[in-house]
Amino acid sequence: MSEFLPFHTPDIGEEEVTEVVQVLRSGWLTTGTKAKQFENEFAAMVGARHAIAVNSCTAALHLALEALGVREGDEVIVPTMTFAATAEVVTYLKAKPVLVDSTPDTLNISPDAVEQAITPRTKAIVPVHFAGHPCEMSWIHAVAQAHNLAVVEDAAHALPARYRGKMIGSLSDLTCFSFYATKNITTGEGGMVTTDDADLAARVRIMSLHGLSRDAWSRYTAQGSWYYEILSPGFKYNLTDIAAALGLAQLAKCDRFWKARDRVAALYRDGFRDVPEIVCPSAADHVQHAWHLYVIQLDLEALRIDRNEFIAQLQRAGIGCSVHFIPLHLHPYYRDSYGYKPADFPTAQAAFERIVSLPLYPKMTEADIQRVITVVRNIVKGNRR
Ligand SMILES: *Cc1c(COP(=O)(O)O)cnc(C)c1O
Repeated sequence: MSEFLPFHTPDIGEEEVTEVVQVLRSGWLTTGTKAKQFENEFAAMVGARHAIAVNSCTAALHLALEALGVREGDEVIVPTMTFAATAEVVTYLKAKPVLVDSTPDTLNISPDAVEQAITPRTKAIVPVHFAGHPCEMSWIHAVAQAHNLAVVEDAAHALPARYRGKMIGSLSDLTCFSFYATKNITTGEGGMVTTDDADLAARVRIMSLHGLSRDAWSRYTAQGSWYYEILSPGFKYNLTDIAAALGLAQLAKCDRFWKARDRVAALYRDGFRDVPEIVCPSAADHVQHAWHLYVIQLDLEALRIDRNEFIAQLQRAGIGCSVHFIPLHLHPYYRDSYGYKPADFPTAQAAFERIVSLPLYPKMTEADIQRVITVVRNIVKGNRR
Protein backbone atom coordinates (compact mmCIF):
# COMPACT_ATOMS: atom_id res chain seq x y z
CA MET A 1 0.00 0.00 0.00
CA SER A 2 1.40 3.40 -0.95
CA GLU A 3 2.03 6.21 1.46
CA PHE A 4 -0.80 8.49 2.60
CA LEU A 5 -1.19 11.53 0.37
CA PRO A 6 -2.16 14.40 2.67
CA PHE A 7 -5.00 16.74 1.76
CA HIS A 8 -2.54 19.62 2.05
CA THR A 9 1.13 20.36 2.69
CA PRO A 10 2.59 23.86 2.57
CA ASP A 11 5.44 24.63 0.16
CA ILE A 12 8.17 26.09 2.38
CA GLY A 13 11.64 26.45 0.86
CA GLU A 14 15.06 27.69 1.93
CA GLU A 15 13.99 31.25 1.01
CA GLU A 16 11.37 31.20 3.77
CA VAL A 17 13.86 29.75 6.26
CA THR A 18 16.45 32.40 5.38
CA GLU A 19 13.95 35.26 5.66
CA VAL A 20 12.67 34.11 9.05
CA VAL A 21 16.15 33.47 10.46
CA GLN A 22 17.15 36.98 9.38
CA VAL A 23 14.28 38.42 11.41
CA LEU A 24 15.14 36.25 14.42
CA ARG A 25 18.70 37.58 14.31
CA SER A 26 17.66 41.19 13.71
CA GLY A 27 16.51 42.02 17.22
CA TRP A 28 13.03 43.09 16.06
CA LEU A 29 10.36 40.37 16.16
CA THR A 30 6.97 42.04 16.21
CA THR A 31 5.31 44.36 13.68
CA GLY A 32 7.98 46.51 12.03
CA THR A 33 9.76 46.93 8.72
CA LYS A 34 9.04 43.40 7.44
CA ALA A 35 5.32 43.78 8.04
CA LYS A 36 5.44 47.15 6.28
CA GLN A 37 7.31 45.67 3.32
CA PHE A 38 4.86 42.77 3.16
CA GLU A 39 1.98 45.27 3.11
CA ASN A 40 3.59 47.32 0.34
CA GLU A 41 4.39 44.35 -1.87
CA PHE A 42 0.96 42.83 -1.31
CA ALA A 43 -0.83 46.10 -2.13
CA ALA A 44 1.23 46.43 -5.31
CA MET A 45 0.46 42.89 -6.34
CA VAL A 46 -3.33 43.13 -5.99
CA GLY A 47 -3.49 46.74 -7.16
CA ALA A 48 -4.83 48.28 -3.95
CA ARG A 49 -3.82 51.65 -2.49
CA HIS A 50 -3.62 50.37 1.08
CA ALA A 51 -2.88 47.02 2.71
CA ILE A 52 -2.89 46.32 6.43
CA ALA A 53 -1.28 43.09 7.64
CA VAL A 54 -3.07 41.32 10.49
CA ASN A 55 -2.79 37.97 12.27
CA SER A 56 -5.71 36.23 10.51
CA CYS A 57 -8.39 36.68 7.88
CA THR A 58 -10.91 36.45 10.70
CA ALA A 59 -9.28 39.55 12.23
CA ALA A 60 -9.28 41.19 8.79
CA LEU A 61 -13.02 40.60 8.35
CA HIS A 62 -13.77 41.83 11.88
CA LEU A 63 -11.74 45.02 11.36
CA ALA A 64 -13.27 45.63 7.92
CA LEU A 65 -16.82 45.50 9.25
CA GLU A 66 -15.85 47.56 12.31
CA ALA A 67 -14.32 50.24 10.09
CA LEU A 68 -17.57 50.41 8.12
CA GLY A 69 -19.43 51.11 11.36
CA VAL A 70 -21.40 47.85 11.52
CA ARG A 71 -23.03 47.65 14.94
CA GLU A 72 -25.85 46.26 17.04
CA GLY A 73 -29.11 46.05 15.09
CA ASP A 74 -27.41 45.95 11.68
CA GLU A 75 -27.61 43.03 9.29
CA VAL A 76 -24.79 41.68 7.15
CA ILE A 77 -25.45 39.31 4.25
CA VAL A 78 -23.19 36.25 4.20
CA PRO A 79 -23.37 33.03 2.17
CA THR A 80 -24.31 29.91 4.12
CA MET A 81 -21.70 28.01 2.07
CA THR A 82 -18.61 29.32 3.86
CA PHE A 83 -16.29 28.86 6.81
CA ALA A 84 -17.21 29.84 10.38
CA ALA A 85 -15.18 33.07 10.25
CA THR A 86 -17.23 34.89 7.61
CA ALA A 87 -20.35 35.00 9.78
CA GLU A 88 -18.93 34.93 13.31
CA VAL A 89 -17.24 38.32 12.88
CA VAL A 90 -20.70 39.84 12.35
CA THR A 91 -21.71 38.57 15.79
CA TYR A 92 -18.52 40.07 17.31
CA LEU A 93 -20.11 43.44 16.48
CA LYS A 94 -23.52 42.35 17.84
CA ALA A 95 -24.97 42.59 14.35
CA LYS A 96 -26.97 39.82 12.65
CA PRO A 97 -25.45 37.56 10.01
CA VAL A 98 -28.16 36.97 7.39
CA LEU A 99 -27.37 33.76 5.53
CA VAL A 100 -28.17 33.30 1.85
CA ASP A 101 -28.02 30.47 -0.67
CA SER A 102 -25.47 29.80 -3.43
CA THR A 103 -25.63 29.25 -7.16
CA PRO A 104 -25.29 25.58 -8.16
CA ASP A 105 -22.31 25.91 -10.53
CA THR A 106 -19.64 27.88 -8.64
CA LEU A 107 -21.28 27.57 -5.19
CA ASN A 108 -20.71 31.32 -4.88
CA ILE A 109 -23.29 33.56 -3.25
CA SER A 110 -26.48 33.78 -5.31
CA PRO A 111 -27.14 37.33 -6.57
CA ASP A 112 -30.92 36.76 -6.47
CA ALA A 113 -30.74 35.47 -2.92
CA VAL A 114 -28.74 38.54 -1.89
CA GLU A 115 -31.35 40.87 -3.33
CA GLN A 116 -34.16 39.02 -1.56
CA ALA A 117 -32.33 39.18 1.78
CA ILE A 118 -31.94 42.97 1.82
CA THR A 119 -33.91 44.84 4.51
CA PRO A 120 -33.74 48.44 5.79
CA ARG A 121 -31.24 47.20 8.42
CA THR A 122 -28.80 45.67 5.90
CA LYS A 123 -25.40 47.34 6.13
CA ALA A 124 -23.03 45.20 4.08
CA ILE A 125 -22.62 42.17 1.82
CA VAL A 126 -19.71 39.76 2.35
CA PRO A 127 -19.28 37.66 -0.79
CA VAL A 128 -16.88 34.70 -0.48
CA HIS A 129 -14.94 33.66 -3.58
CA PHE A 130 -15.66 29.98 -3.03
CA ALA A 131 -12.65 27.74 -3.76
CA GLY A 132 -11.01 30.71 -5.49
CA HIS A 133 -13.61 31.38 -8.20
CA PRO A 134 -14.49 35.09 -8.07
CA CYS A 135 -18.11 35.98 -7.38
CA GLU A 136 -20.13 37.96 -9.94
CA MET A 137 -18.77 41.27 -8.61
CA SER A 138 -20.34 43.64 -11.13
CA TRP A 139 -23.74 42.32 -10.13
CA ILE A 140 -22.97 42.47 -6.41
CA HIS A 141 -21.68 46.04 -6.74
CA ALA A 142 -24.80 47.06 -8.66
CA VAL A 143 -27.07 45.69 -5.91
CA ALA A 144 -24.89 47.26 -3.22
CA GLN A 145 -24.99 50.63 -4.92
CA ALA A 146 -28.75 50.51 -5.45
CA HIS A 147 -29.29 49.86 -1.72
CA ASN A 148 -26.38 51.90 -0.38
CA LEU A 149 -24.57 48.88 1.06
CA ALA A 150 -20.87 48.29 1.62
CA VAL A 151 -19.08 45.28 0.11
CA VAL A 152 -16.38 43.39 2.02
CA GLU A 153 -14.93 40.51 0.03
CA ASP A 154 -13.88 37.38 1.88
CA ALA A 155 -10.95 36.53 -0.40
CA ALA A 156 -9.48 33.85 1.87
CA HIS A 157 -9.43 31.54 -1.18
CA ALA A 158 -8.82 34.13 -3.86
CA LEU A 159 -5.09 34.84 -4.19
CA PRO A 160 -4.24 35.36 -6.99
CA ALA A 161 -7.63 35.73 -8.66
CA ARG A 162 -8.98 38.10 -11.28
CA TYR A 163 -12.42 39.33 -12.13
CA ARG A 164 -12.81 40.85 -15.61
CA GLY A 165 -9.07 41.49 -15.74
CA LYS A 166 -8.80 43.12 -12.31
CA MET A 167 -7.12 41.50 -9.33
CA ILE A 168 -9.30 40.46 -6.42
CA GLY A 169 -8.24 42.90 -3.71
CA SER A 170 -8.75 45.99 -5.88
CA LEU A 171 -12.51 45.89 -6.45
CA SER A 172 -14.58 46.55 -3.32
CA ASP A 173 -14.65 48.81 -0.25
CA LEU A 174 -12.48 46.30 1.58
CA THR A 175 -11.06 42.85 0.77
CA CYS A 176 -9.77 40.30 3.29
CA PHE A 177 -7.16 37.63 2.62
CA SER A 178 -5.96 34.65 4.67
CA PHE A 179 -2.46 33.28 5.13
CA TYR A 180 -3.61 30.34 7.25
CA ALA A 181 -1.46 27.20 6.96
CA THR A 182 -3.54 25.66 4.15
CA LYS A 183 -4.16 28.80 2.11
CA ASN A 184 -2.54 29.65 -1.25
CA ILE A 185 0.30 31.49 0.47
CA THR A 186 0.92 31.10 4.19
CA THR A 187 2.49 32.82 7.18
CA GLY A 188 1.35 30.01 9.52
CA GLU A 189 -1.42 32.31 10.69
CA GLY A 190 -2.00 35.68 9.07
CA GLY A 191 -4.25 37.91 7.03
CA MET A 192 -4.45 41.14 5.06
CA VAL A 193 -7.02 43.88 4.52
CA THR A 194 -6.84 45.84 1.27
CA THR A 195 -8.73 49.02 0.41
CA ASP A 196 -8.42 52.14 -1.73
CA ASP A 197 -10.05 54.28 0.96
CA ALA A 198 -7.54 56.13 3.18
CA ASP A 199 -10.02 56.64 6.04
CA LEU A 200 -11.04 52.98 6.15
CA ALA A 201 -7.36 51.96 6.00
CA ALA A 202 -6.52 54.27 8.90
CA ARG A 203 -9.37 52.92 11.03
CA VAL A 204 -8.42 49.29 10.30
CA ARG A 205 -4.79 50.02 11.17
CA ILE A 206 -5.55 51.79 14.44
CA MET A 207 -8.07 49.17 15.58
CA SER A 208 -5.67 46.34 14.69
CA LEU A 209 -3.41 47.50 17.53
CA HIS A 210 -5.47 48.43 20.61
CA GLY A 211 -6.82 51.60 18.98
CA LEU A 212 -3.45 53.27 19.61
CA SER A 213 -2.40 56.39 17.74
CA ARG A 214 1.09 54.90 17.20
CA ASP A 215 2.34 51.40 16.58
CA ALA A 216 5.29 49.78 18.36
CA TRP A 217 7.71 50.61 15.55
CA SER A 218 7.01 54.32 15.91
CA ARG A 219 7.30 54.09 19.70
CA TYR A 220 10.42 52.00 20.30
CA THR A 221 12.82 52.84 17.49
CA ALA A 222 15.39 55.64 17.42
CA GLN A 223 13.11 57.88 15.36
CA GLY A 224 10.12 56.97 17.53
CA SER A 225 8.41 58.65 20.44
CA TRP A 226 7.15 56.95 23.61
CA TYR A 227 3.92 58.94 23.53
CA TYR A 228 0.65 57.44 22.27
CA GLU A 229 -3.06 57.95 22.74
CA ILE A 230 -5.88 55.40 22.87
CA LEU A 231 -8.33 56.61 20.26
CA SER A 232 -10.80 53.74 20.66
CA PRO A 233 -10.79 50.37 22.47
CA GLY A 234 -9.28 48.26 19.70
CA PHE A 235 -8.02 44.74 19.23
CA LYS A 236 -4.69 42.85 19.20
CA TYR A 237 -4.56 41.76 15.59
CA ASN A 238 -1.13 42.90 14.32
CA LEU A 239 1.10 40.58 12.26
CA THR A 240 4.61 39.86 13.58
CA ASP A 241 7.69 40.52 11.47
CA ILE A 242 8.50 36.80 11.82
CA ALA A 243 5.26 35.94 10.03
CA ALA A 244 5.65 38.80 7.56
CA ALA A 245 9.10 37.52 6.56
CA LEU A 246 7.53 34.17 5.77
CA GLY A 247 4.85 36.03 3.84
CA LEU A 248 7.36 37.96 1.74
CA ALA A 249 9.11 34.77 0.64
CA GLN A 250 5.75 33.14 -0.12
CA LEU A 251 4.45 36.18 -2.00
CA ALA A 252 7.47 36.02 -4.30
CA LYS A 253 6.36 32.49 -5.25
CA CYS A 254 2.66 33.28 -5.53
CA ASP A 255 2.67 33.22 -9.32
CA ARG A 256 4.59 29.96 -9.55
CA PHE A 257 2.28 28.41 -6.95
CA TRP A 258 -0.73 29.52 -8.99
CA LYS A 259 0.63 27.97 -12.19
CA ALA A 260 1.19 24.71 -10.34
CA ARG A 261 -2.36 24.81 -8.95
CA ASP A 262 -3.82 25.62 -12.34
CA ARG A 263 -1.99 22.60 -13.75
CA VAL A 264 -3.33 20.23 -11.08
CA ALA A 265 -6.84 21.51 -11.84
CA ALA A 266 -6.32 20.97 -15.57
CA LEU A 267 -5.04 17.42 -15.04
CA TYR A 268 -8.00 16.58 -12.79
CA ARG A 269 -10.38 17.96 -15.40
CA ASP A 270 -8.77 15.81 -18.10
CA GLY A 271 -8.67 12.78 -15.81
CA PHE A 272 -12.40 12.95 -15.07
CA ARG A 273 -13.58 14.08 -18.50
CA ASP A 274 -15.17 10.71 -19.31
CA VAL A 275 -16.54 10.15 -15.78
CA PRO A 276 -20.03 11.69 -15.75
CA GLU A 277 -20.54 10.72 -12.10
CA ILE A 278 -17.92 13.34 -11.16
CA VAL A 279 -18.95 16.94 -11.78
CA CYS A 280 -15.77 19.03 -12.00
CA PRO A 281 -15.46 22.72 -11.12
CA SER A 282 -14.66 25.06 -13.97
CA ALA A 283 -13.61 28.69 -14.37
CA ALA A 284 -15.81 31.21 -16.18
CA ASP A 285 -14.17 32.92 -19.17
CA HIS A 286 -14.06 36.33 -17.48
CA VAL A 287 -12.20 35.20 -14.34
CA GLN A 288 -8.89 33.82 -13.18
CA HIS A 289 -9.67 31.04 -10.73
CA ALA A 290 -7.19 30.97 -7.81
CA TRP A 291 -7.72 27.20 -7.45
CA HIS A 292 -7.48 27.16 -3.67
CA LEU A 293 -9.77 24.12 -3.56
CA TYR A 294 -10.81 21.47 -6.06
CA VAL A 295 -14.36 20.66 -5.06
CA ILE A 296 -15.97 17.91 -7.10
CA GLN A 297 -19.70 17.16 -6.90
CA LEU A 298 -20.83 13.54 -7.00
CA ASP A 299 -23.81 12.54 -9.11
CA LEU A 300 -25.41 10.56 -6.30
CA GLU A 301 -28.25 9.31 -8.51
CA ALA A 302 -25.67 7.45 -10.58
CA LEU A 303 -23.79 5.95 -7.61
CA ARG A 304 -24.67 3.29 -5.05
CA ILE A 305 -22.72 5.08 -2.28
CA ASP A 306 -23.16 8.44 -0.59
CA ARG A 307 -20.56 11.17 -0.14
CA ASN A 308 -19.42 9.92 3.27
CA GLU A 309 -18.77 6.42 1.94
CA PHE A 310 -16.97 7.94 -1.07
CA ILE A 311 -14.66 9.79 1.35
CA ALA A 312 -14.18 6.67 3.47
CA GLN A 313 -13.02 4.79 0.37
CA LEU A 314 -10.66 7.64 -0.61
CA GLN A 315 -9.17 7.56 2.90
CA ARG A 316 -8.77 3.77 2.77
CA ALA A 317 -6.89 4.19 -0.52
CA GLY A 318 -4.57 6.66 1.21
CA ILE A 319 -5.89 9.90 -0.26
CA GLY A 320 -6.56 12.78 2.12
CA CYS A 321 -9.63 14.84 1.34
CA SER A 322 -12.05 17.22 3.00
CA VAL A 323 -15.48 18.84 2.73
CA HIS A 324 -15.86 22.58 2.10
CA PHE A 325 -18.12 23.43 3.72
CA ILE A 326 -20.77 22.21 6.10
CA PRO A 327 -23.18 25.08 5.35
CA LEU A 328 -23.45 27.43 8.32
CA HIS A 329 -27.23 27.04 8.65
CA LEU A 330 -26.81 23.35 9.52
CA HIS A 331 -24.65 24.11 12.56
CA PRO A 332 -26.32 24.15 16.00
CA TYR A 333 -25.55 27.81 16.70
CA TYR A 334 -27.08 29.19 13.49
CA ARG A 335 -29.93 26.68 13.52
CA ASP A 336 -30.88 27.40 17.14
CA SER A 337 -30.21 31.15 17.27
CA TYR A 338 -31.85 32.14 14.01
CA GLY A 339 -34.25 29.25 13.39
CA TYR A 340 -32.75 28.15 10.08
CA LYS A 341 -33.95 24.81 8.70
CA PRO A 342 -31.96 22.55 6.34
CA ALA A 343 -34.40 23.23 3.48
CA ASP A 344 -34.06 27.03 3.77
CA PHE A 345 -31.08 27.00 1.39
CA PRO A 346 -31.79 24.19 -1.07
CA THR A 347 -28.77 24.70 -3.33
CA ALA A 348 -26.22 24.71 -0.51
CA GLN A 349 -28.05 21.83 1.13
CA ALA A 350 -28.01 19.68 -2.02
CA ALA A 351 -24.40 20.60 -2.75
CA PHE A 352 -23.31 19.71 0.77
CA GLU A 353 -24.42 16.11 0.25
CA ARG A 354 -22.42 15.85 -2.98
CA ILE A 355 -19.15 17.73 -2.38
CA VAL A 356 -15.65 16.36 -1.85
CA SER A 357 -12.48 18.48 -1.85
CA LEU A 358 -9.55 16.67 -3.49
CA PRO A 359 -5.88 17.45 -2.71
CA LEU A 360 -4.65 20.52 -4.64
CA TYR A 361 -1.29 22.13 -3.87
CA PRO A 362 1.96 22.99 -5.65
CA LYS A 363 3.98 20.25 -3.99
CA MET A 364 1.85 17.53 -5.61
CA THR A 365 3.89 15.52 -8.09
CA GLU A 366 2.64 14.25 -11.43
CA ALA A 367 2.45 10.79 -9.80
CA ASP A 368 0.41 12.15 -6.86
CA ILE A 369 -2.09 13.73 -9.24
CA GLN A 370 -2.39 10.59 -11.38
CA ARG A 371 -2.84 8.51 -8.24
CA VAL A 372 -5.77 10.65 -7.07
CA ILE A 373 -7.34 10.38 -10.52
CA THR A 374 -6.93 6.60 -10.60
CA VAL A 375 -8.33 6.11 -7.10
CA VAL A 376 -11.35 8.34 -7.79
CA ARG A 377 -12.03 6.56 -11.10
CA ASN A 378 -11.80 3.16 -9.40
CA ILE A 379 -14.20 4.17 -6.62
CA VAL A 380 -16.70 5.34 -9.23
CA LYS A 381 -16.23 2.17 -11.29
CA GLY A 382 -16.82 -0.05 -8.28
CA ASN A 383 -19.95 1.79 -7.18
CA ARG A 384 -21.91 2.63 -10.33
CA ARG A 385 -25.61 1.94 -10.16
C1 LIG B 1 -9.71 30.19 6.00
C2 LIG B 1 -10.93 31.03 5.84
C3 LIG B 1 -11.19 32.15 6.64
C4 LIG B 1 -10.42 32.47 7.88
O1 LIG B 1 -9.09 32.63 7.69
P1 LIG B 1 -8.11 32.72 8.95
O2 LIG B 1 -6.89 33.35 8.39
O3 LIG B 1 -7.89 31.31 9.42
O4 LIG B 1 -8.78 33.55 9.99
C5 LIG B 1 -12.25 32.97 6.32
N1 LIG B 1 -13.06 32.68 5.29
C6 LIG B 1 -12.89 31.59 4.53
C7 LIG B 1 -13.82 31.35 3.40
C8 LIG B 1 -11.83 30.72 4.79
O5 LIG B 1 -11.68 29.61 4.05
